[in-house]
Amino acid sequence: MSVRDHLAIIRDNIEAACKRVGRDPAGIRIIAVTKYVSIERAKEALAAGITDLGENRDDGLLQKYEAIGREAIWHFIGTLQSRKVKNVIDKVDYIHSLDRLSLAHEIEKRAAKRIKCFVQVNVSGEETKHGLSKDEVIPFIEQLRDFSKIEVVGLMTMAPYTDDEAFLRQCFRQLKTLQQHVQALHIPNAPCTELSMGMSNDYVIAIEEGATFIRLGTSLVGNE
Ligand SMILES: *Cc1c(COP(=O)(O)O)cnc(C)c1O
Repeated sequence: MSVRDHLAIIRDNIEAACKRVGRDPAGIRIIAVTKYVSIERAKEALAAGITDLGENRDDGLLQKYEAIGREAIWHFIGTLQSRKVKNVIDKVDYIHSLDRLSLAHEIEKRAAKRIKCFVQVNVSGEETKHGLSKDEVIPFIEQLRDFSKIEVVGLMTMAPYTDDEAFLRQCFRQLKTLQQHVQALHIPNAPCTELSMGMSNDYVIAIEEGATFIRLGTSLVGNE
């Protein structure tokens, strides 16, 4: 199926979810996660009206960036090793995986401009997931106060892979609550207005719970 056809279905689902909870669909940005697919397929997504592309590895991002460049808004969504920061920092607009001080220092050192960052949170406490625990988020963001190259635009989470809708909803709700706590701190470089949550299997629930960025691979561009 073409990206355009997938996107039509997704937009319908977004609209319906927004209607259920009284949100404006314009408040939701779709990131096409292109880590499984070719440069051609990424270009097809842009032609279909997608503006934002996401990659989870530095080599994947560099390869796509070389072919596409500034025609896309670039999101780094995977675990970022500090030594890889220099490879991607002048190409990415958003980093969704800020989860430790050493990474923040490396971004601060290497970035020429302010980078929009999401602090990644492991809401469910799953051992296999990266990200800060809920308790660590506020102290961490307070420590970022004096970082001139980092803007904490929001929080990001990856929910567990499950069909348990109530559990997913609870994860997303907890991220939203944390966001409100961060906002109440009124830290100048941490407006925290965004929530990056929702993937192919759970984006509808994420939208109902307040997502502003959804990260779609399989359901939008496919996975082969
Ligand atoms: C791969 C990936 C996605 C997209 O996953 P799908 O289930 O294929 O939509 C979203 N977020 C992150 C962090 C990913 O690594």
